[in-house]
Amino acid sequence: MENDVILQVRNLKKYFKTPRGNLHAVDDINFSINRGETLGVVGESGCGKSTLGRTVIHLHERTSGEIYFNGKDISDVTKQQLKVLREDMQMIFQDPFSSLNPRMSVSQLIAEPLLIYKKCGSKGELATRVAQLMDTVGLASRLASFYPHELDGGRRQRIGVARALALNPQFIVCDEPVSALDVSIQAQIINLMQDLQEEMGLTYMFITHDMSVVRHVSNNILVMYLGSMVEFADSEEMFHQRLHPYTKALLAAVPIPVIGAKKERKLIKGEITSPINPGNECRFAKRCPYAKERCHQEIPQLVEAVPGHFVACHYVQEINQL
Ligand code: SF4
Repeated sequence: MENDVILQVRNLKKYFKTPRGNLHAVDDINFSINRGETLGVVGESGCGKSTLGRTVIHLHERTSGEIYFNGKDISDVTKQQLKVLREDMQMIFQDPFSSLNPRMSVSQLIAEPLLIYKKCGSKGELATRVAQLMDTVGLASRLASFYPHELDGGRRQRIGVARALALNPQFIVCDEPVSALDVSIQAQIINLMQDLQEEMGLTYMFITHDMSVVRHVSNNILVMYLGSMVEFADSEEMFHQRLHPYTKALLAAVPIPVIGAKKERKLIKGEITSPINPGNECRFAKRCPYAKERCHQEIPQLVEAVPGHFVACHYVQEINQL
């Protein structure tokens, strides 16, 4: 393993048992993230990207596969080991309102992880650390006694960021951290997270359904469809050429922000394959305009279609005339 790899995931699977069979939420995912970088994980709602993030940091128990953090196998951890690990691996949630206790003030919410982990020796030290964290995330000190319902979405998400930073983590899973926010506030939170990454050397796994956001924040991009990995490349390469039919469709479905723009937003049509016991076929076959017989009979493997660019499609060469 190279020195600068902070997180490596191998053949990770997370299945949920349902009365109708196993739901394949995360199916055989492989990736690594370098220290100080951001892996963008993108896909439609329900593709398993949030489950992937939660499984990586042990908020869900994995079904199989391996997870390495700083070169150490953390696939199986005891409760005590997990408590130690939690200091280094944190999460920022999509909806700051539902993830914050409405009965706690801003300062109490930020102090909570510090108290649980006994990080401050005195009340004065705790107050200083809370004030520092509020300053770091751009929350004015006058807001310390406010409650979440008295704040706008952007300020509530700043509390979520401060809580995630409280224990000085190395790695943060950011689960759709800006999708519940107004567009104008989204940019402020993304800029804050990028500044913090630079200052503190943080590593992010940034989960989003928004192709324009993922482009802005990511070093590498992993595209997921129904629990499986369909495309992986660095951000520049991915936006230079999308090779998988699903990624092409995902980008075509991005709203056109220019008033009067002639290009139409194309929604992805077709029946979605059930993630419960999916068969031996490409999971995108029922929606793919290029699908042929083989696509319904064989699962495509992820292969390096061009250097550094991995795609799971039987016909990637033909479709893209590579
Ligand atoms: Fe489409 Fe077939 Fe490629 Fe799947 S394997 S993406 S169905 S062409």
